[in-house]
Parts: sequence; structure tokens; C-alpha cells
Amino acid sequence: MIKIAIDGPSGSGKSTLAKSLSAKLGFTYVDTGALYRSIALYMLENKIDLTDAGKISAALADISISLDYAADGTQHVYVNGTDVTAKIRSSEVSMAASRVSAFPVVRDFLLDTQRNIAKKSNVIMDGRDIGTVIFPDADVKIFLTAGNNSRAERRYAELIAKGENVTFEKVLTDITKRDHDDSSRAVAPAVAAPDAILIDNSDFTPEMTFAKALEIIESKIRLK
Ligand code: C5P
Repeated sequence: MIKIAIDGPSGSGKSTLAKSLSAKLGFTYVDTGALYRSIALYMLENKIDLTDAGKISAALADISISLDYAADGTQHVYVNGTDVTAKIRSSEVSMAASRVSAFPVVRDFLLDTQRNIAKKSNVIMDGRDIGTVIFPDADVKIFLTAGNNSRAERRYAELIAKGENVTFEKVLTDITKRDHDDSSRAVAPAVAAPDAILIDNSDFTPEMTFAKALEIIESKIRLK
């Protein structure tokens, strides 16, 4: 099976890129951030202390996470059978996901879910540690990045479109903190694998990012 890893900070356009590539290549798209977000949502809803590794670890025993795909390829994520796809997109869940994702017990919990999908189909997986931890043997590794302002502008537009009541300054502060925490954590930090190809798309349209990524993929693997 072919594995394409797309890592990078929030707002760099990973999911937009991965979705358009999966539509083009016919690969399964896996948004791994949704898995961490689902765990964070469960912890928030059940008022579990996000600083307490023991309580988080105990709560994981009560969680079952599954994914499925709509006919158009849209990923749906379920916690104990309930579809939480829409609920996990709030700013509160984003920050909580970053906190829970720093615990090794949470990362271990999600390891097999991620690896098992790639046993059944060709995948394009986006996240933070796909090229470094989940698939160090990925066929293609792309690390997508952009300046803080560009990323915050994109995230702000997304949240406003969804009706969330946020200011640009709050989005910029949150995104900067989340990326600092994600890239400096002890376990599976969000850093580029040594063999990843870097794309800085601060000044790119989504179409330009797509064209660049496709060129990289075609240079690495022979597509039918
Ligand atoms: O990609 P997304 O913004 O949905 O991810 C939410 C959070 O989940 C990130 O800020 C990060 O802390 C965590 N995450 C991770 N490893 C991944 C994907 C996401 O630690 N592979």
C-alpha cells in the first residue's frame, strides 16, 4: 500500500491539500487531528482534568473511536458510536486536543487506529508525526508550513464562516501557542522528518500548493 504523509502546523492547509490529493489519486484521506480532537471532546464533556495523566489514562478505557467515510470521501469520526465530526472543530476543542496529545498514553492509544487504515488502502494522512512516528517508511513525506499571520488568517476565516465568535488576535495567539506546544513537546513533536520535503505556502493559493505537492508525489512514486 502507498502511504503519503503530510505534516505541519495548524492552518498550513494540510487538510485542504490532502483532500484534493485524495480526490485526484483515489487514496483514502485520514485526518489524524480529528482523532486527538475526539479524545479532547470526550475529556471536556466528562470534565476530566486535562493536566492529570492518570485520570486521562483511566478515561481512555471508556472510549472507542472509529472512522468511516461518506460517498464523497468525507471522513466522519465517532466516539462510542456518536458522530462528533462537527462538534470537534471549535477553538476550545483545538486547544484541548493540543494538551491531551502531549500525553504518551493518548498517542499510544491512537497508534493502531492510524496504522491499521494503511493496511487496507493507499492513504494520504495528515497530522504532526505521520512522517516521523506513524509511518517513518512513508513513500512520500511533505512538511507543509506557512507564516503565523497567513495561518491565523486562514483559521480565522474558517471559524467566522462557521459562525464562531472570535477575534483575529485571539486566533493568532491560540495558533502560536498551539504550534509552540506541539513542536516543543517531548513525545512525537511536530517537526519535519529529515527526509520530508518542505513546502512554505505563505504566498500560495491552494491550487499552487496542490500543483507543487503533486509534482513531488509524481517524482517519488509511479502513479497508474
Ligand atoms: O490538525 P488539527 O489542528 O486538527 O490537530 C489538533 C491537535 O491534535 C494539534 O494541535 C496537535 O496537538 C494534535 N495532533 C497531534 N498529532 C497528529 C495530529 C494532531 O499531536 N498527528
